[in-house]
Formats: sequence, C-alpha cells, structure tokens
Amino acid sequence: MSRYISAKNRNFVKERAAQTCEYCKVPELFSFIGYEIDHIISLKHGGENSLENLAWACAICSLNKGTDIGTMLLPSQKIIRFFNPRTEDWALHFEVSDALNLPKTEIGEATVKIFQFNQVDRLMERQMLANAGLYPPPDGLLAN
Ligand SMILES: [Zn+2]
Repeated sequence: MSRYISAKNRNFVKERAAQTCEYCKVPELFSFIGYEIDHIISLKHGGENSLENLAWACAICSLNKGTDIGTMLLPSQKIIRFFNPRTEDWALHFEVSDALNLPKTEIGEATVKIFQFNQVDRLMERQMLANAGLYPPPDGLLAN
C-alpha cells in the first residue's frame, strides 16, 4: 500500500485534532518538536491511509509508537492494544495529575508505557505548560 497522503488529507487530520497531539494532548503551538501524521493501525499491520486510521501526533509519540499497535503488560502478560483516538474518548483512558498523564485503563497503561508519556523531558515540558495554564487542554480537546 502506498504511504502517500494528500496535502488536503494531512491538513484535515491536523485541523480535526485542533493541532494537538491526539495521544499526549500537547498542543503543537506550544511544542518545540515537529508533529506528523500517524497511522493508528500501521500499514505493516494492515492499516490504511483512510482518514479513520490517521491521527495527528507529536514526533515523540510517533517515534515511540513506531509501527507497534499494542504491547504486553506485565506481570499479567496480556497483550493490550493502544488507545485509538478515532474511536475512543481520551478521558476514558487517561487523566492528568500535576502534568502526569496517568492511565485509567489497561489500554491507557499500554499507551503510557510504550509512548513514554511521562518520560522526564516530556513531563517537564507539560509542567511548564501547566504552570502557564496551557495544559491540560480544555475538556473539548480531551474528549477525542
Ligand atoms: Zn504526543
């Protein structure tokens, strides 16, 4: 399958996400890193270039996720898929506490683990945003 995504669709995905990473919820405007299109289900695993399979993601979430679609949680050894921003409510799986993005479900736990939401540099960035009243984003942005 082609990796090509039209500029029109890229812009649609970016605007649909209100220019906010759909995984860690850091607004692009306040970030020093680039943002990009993410295939929620990677092409390698049969995902498509359809708008329903695309998310707007910061480069760190995208890099940490890679082509993975889930992980094994320990000690249960259960394979748990990642959060899907197209079909699930972010606030159902995560909550923000002092800029920490904490999991509320196994899907949240799998996503926090592999995306490394609370890696120290990322946490420091969100704490600075929180101190400026810019994180977490308004409830409307946490709903999807
Ligand atoms: Zn992110």
